[in-house]
Amino acid sequence: MTGVTAYIALGSNLENPAVQIEAAFGALATIAGSRLVKRSSLYRTAPVGFADQPDFINAVGAIETVLEPRALLDALHALEAARGRARTFVNAPRTLDLDVLLYGEQQIDEHGLTVPHPRMHERAFVLVPLAEIAPDARVPGQGSAAELADACRDQDVERLD
Ligand code: ADP
Ligand code: MG
Repeated sequence: MTGVTAYIALGSNLENPAVQIEAAFGALATIAGSRLVKRSSLYRTAPVGFADQPDFINAVGAIETVLEPRALLDALHALEAARGRARTFVNAPRTLDLDVLLYGEQQIDEHGLTVPHPRMHERAFVLVPLAEIAPDARVPGQGSAAELADACRDQDVERLD
């Protein structure tokens, strides 16, 4: 299968987050027209935006996909829903959040779909796992994953074994 390499951010802070993330990697591998080609370690990270909630487990996966970006996002939303995610408020705790970080080097700005993910370049919980599996990945308009991760190393991100 030839396709585009896309990077997916995984996050959870409810209902045994590490188990949620492991299961989500398994689920990513089942998306039609796609295959999981790399996965990062798990990272424990402090919540961003709304502090009074449990720590998160975050990770990043690389997939090769023939799905168009919108179809990929729809597939991710279906996986979130299958894990029982309820959308309550912005930055709320969640059983599973799956975001499209990068889709090749495309820049997309449509209703409900912005790629690169608009806040990724300043978030260590995304950049550190991304840099682990793809240090040279280009974030269009921003730089490489490794450079961007280095720039936010003051943020609290702990790699788990
Ligand atoms: P969060 O910003 O915490 O990930 P949600 O997962 O609830 O919040 O997503 C909010 C909205 O962000 C979704 O309805 C989705 O359409 C939109 N969105 C825009 N760009 C992206 C992207 N690159 N990846 C995932 N969702 C995105
Ligand atoms: Mg999301």
